[in-house]
Amino acid sequence: MRIVEASAHLADIAVETVRTDAVQSFIKQETVFVDLVTEDGNRGTGYAYTIGTGGTSVLAMLRAHLLPRLIGADARQIEYLWHDLFASTRATTVGAITSLALAAVDTALWDLRCLRAGEPLWRVAGGFRREVPLYDTEGGWLHLSTDELVRGALAAQAAGWPGVKLKVGKPHVTRDVERLRAVREAVGPELEIMVDANQSMTAAEARRRAAAFEPLELAWFEEPLPADDVSGHAVLARSTCAGRRYHAVAEGRAPGRGLQRARMPALPDGAARQPRRRDPQRPLRRTHPTTARDHPRPAADRERPRHRARRSGTRHRLGPGRDRGPSRRLDRSKG
Ligand SMILES: [Mg+2]
Repeated sequence: MRIVEASAHLADIAVETVRTDAVQSFIKQETVFVDLVTEDGNRGTGYAYTIGTGGTSVLAMLRAHLLPRLIGADARQIEYLWHDLFASTRATTVGAITSLALAAVDTALWDLRCLRAGEPLWRVAGGFRREVPLYDTEGGWLHLSTDELVRGALAAQAAGWPGVKLKVGKPHVTRDVERLRAVREAVGPELEIMVDANQSMTAAEARRRAAAFEPLELAWFEEPLPADDVSGHAVLARSTCAGRRYHAVAEGRAPGRGLQRARMPALPDGAARQPRRRDPQRPLRRTHPTTARDHPRPAADRERPRHRARRSGTRHRLGPGRDRGPSRRLDRSKG
């Protein structure tokens, strides 16, 4: 299914109020639209947006470099086309301008696929669930006073929203905590509260704030670190239970349930923040604390063979013929 036409345009939407988070202001919404037309007459539309700067650069990237490459291409080969376009812009990847341009093309290609299939995107993408819980973020901006934050959260709760997302990243951690505590006390324990630092923190500061946020029962801690700091996020996630409720859903402890109903298993006080370090005095084999002896399997379960993947993974690390139960790495994924 060949692409016969590819175009892009930019629409600016002025804001009524300038909103701020920890690192930037939302000046206007610049929305870049991409339209791709295939030989069967379908028109797929994709878009990306900025919050005030760079929209014209995204448009120029599309018009000068990406869209011409799409003419004559098979729109069904979404993965191939994404990689082809990505490779063709190697000199400017990974960067926001190129990523936004690629995103607008990508969503236009998916729109085409859905039009051809006569199906909505959620079902074409796998159709895991028909509904997702929503949250309100309009009342959570960083420039708002604590009173305004509380009023916004109460209004969202009264309107039936299951959660609110609040910006964090005030110059001192105590200001963040004051604001969040005021909201938590006003709305009670049921309303989900998420926080978003917009990638503003160092790893040390994020860890400090996460520890301070733990008593506030957050649903998640969004964008604490620069988005590409994958290992930093992994270390941070292991160091805190602040905002790990959603993580629990992702790990499958509460599959298919609404966010507001998924709860983290109870953790001993401080347990989640204890770094797991190997005692240098102990022999290496003792660094795998979950041996079969430490955690005997239930009687009803003993006759069943252990999962092959876990067993072979453990054997690979400890030597053949030894059954020491799940490896530490696998066990950690459950906690
Ligand atoms: Mg965010």
